[in-house]
Order: sequence, then structure tokens, then C-alpha cells
Amino acid sequence: MISLGAAALATTISWPKWMQAARELPENGDWMPSLFVGHGSPMNALDDNAFTRMLKQKGSTLPKPSAILVISAHWLTRGTFVSSVAKPPTIHDFHGFPDNLYQVQYPSPGSPEFAKNAQALLDSHHAKLEPKRGLDHGAWSVLLHMFPGADIPVFQVSIDVEATPEKLVSIGHHLKELRKRGVLLMGSGNLVHNLGMIAWDDTAVAPDWAQEFDAKMADFILRRDKKGICKYQEWGQLSQMAHPSNDHLLPLFHVLGTEKSEDEIQFIHEGFQNGSISMRCVQFG
Ligand code: ZN
Repeated sequence: MISLGAAALATTISWPKWMQAARELPENGDWMPSLFVGHGSPMNALDDNAFTRMLKQKGSTLPKPSAILVISAHWLTRGTFVSSVAKPPTIHDFHGFPDNLYQVQYPSPGSPEFAKNAQALLDSHHAKLEPKRGLDHGAWSVLLHMFPGADIPVFQVSIDVEATPEKLVSIGHHLKELRKRGVLLMGSGNLVHNLGMIAWDDTAVAPDWAQEFDAKMADFILRRDKKGICKYQEWGQLSQMAHPSNDHLLPLFHVLGTEKSEDEIQFIHEGFQNGSISMRCVQFG
């Protein structure tokens, strides 16, 4: 009979790359919550309203993250990329807004180390590092309220526009590990986002279809019905109205993947901006 000793096993078994990456990370004890934030207009970066006050309050009550990973509706790519720049520039990726919005800087450091770990966790999704990409406004317009000191490392994972919702949930699931390492995982988009139907009054009442889609999403989220949410396009005309293009919904799928079954689910903000933009924000854990 042939028996294999521990030494023999050690030479024949190698950890999968994602498992090696997870083992290299320091554990921080408690799991960090993950968030989906409805970011709305870039002007929220400068405004003082119920949404921005909620962000300030949230940032001051969460445990201080070791790093922040943002998945933003404003970084869309073919394939999946992880930003690994050490000093991410602030990207002003919008047009036609007041000059002072273009002066805003969010000079947080990047996190090349966590970026490498995230890339390794996404090895099965063939993620690549992106060494130059800065922070888009889906990230900084939210973070400057939550963490005004800009002293926490921030990096981003892009959204693969060719991936199915189920695949995006899987990407989030692989990143979930980072929550245990003190990383705040945040999706930044909007649960309803129809720019063609916006009202210029930012306090305009939301039309019925917007309220219905937002409420339906909230119900599915509370019931943890990920499969149902992934099939939202089967909700017909309602989905078309809520998301003529689905870029602002996509970060939700990643965040759903980061959820643990024992996470408490809270809607930390609700409401609409300019009628057709849902500002609903969700916290898991
Ligand atoms: Zn946006």
C-alpha cells in the first residue's frame, strides 16, 4: 500500500489563486457592511440635502474601512478591470455643470495591494489590473460626504457590459471575501434611472412607473430574491421605463453577490431626485 505523507501532499496540492490571495490578506475581525448607493446628480457633491446628510452620518458611524472598493455605473468596460493606481486622479466625467463642480478634488490614496488581491479573487473572471484609471464621480461625489478626510485608500472594479446579471452577482460573490478584511464594498448607481424623463425640479414627485419599479426592487431585495432581480427585464415595459439603458442598475448585481445570508438588510435612504431617479440606498450587514 502506498501512503502519501504531508510533505508529499504539500508538493502535489496548490491552492487556487483566489484562495492564496484571500490567505494573504489580514483579517479585521467583523465583516464590513456592503452598500448600494443611489448617487443621482453630480451636483450632490456640492449640495446639502437629506441624501448627503445621510452619507455624512453613515461615514461617521461605520467602522473605519481599511480600504474602499467602488463599483460605479460610470466605469463600463468589456471584461473586468481593477484600478491599481497609487494616487488616483479625480475624474470629472460629466458635461454642462457649474465650474465649481470641476474644481472638486478627492485626493484619497489608491490601494495597489488590495487591487492585486481583488484581481486574484476575480481570477476565474479573467480580471486585469488597470494602472492609470482615477476615481469617477460615482465614487468621489459620494465618498467626499462619507469620508471627507480622503485618507482611506480607494480603488474601483469596472463593470463588464457584456456580462449577464448572474455573472455580475458572481463577481460580487468573489469579492465578498474583502468584507472580512475591513474593505467597504460599495456599488454606486441608481435603482431607477431615466434621464430622458427627468423633471428640472429636483423635488418633483416621481411618476407611478418609477415608484412601482423602485418598490418592486425593494421588495425583491428584502426577500433576497437574487434570481428574480436578475430577471428584471422580464418585468416588461416597467423595466424599459426605469432603465432605458441599464448602466445605473448594474452595480446592484455586484453588491447582491457580496451579501451573506445572515446580513441585516436596511434601506438607509429612500426617495427620488428629479422625478425619475431613485435615490434608494441599501446596506447589507
Ligand atoms: Zn450616474
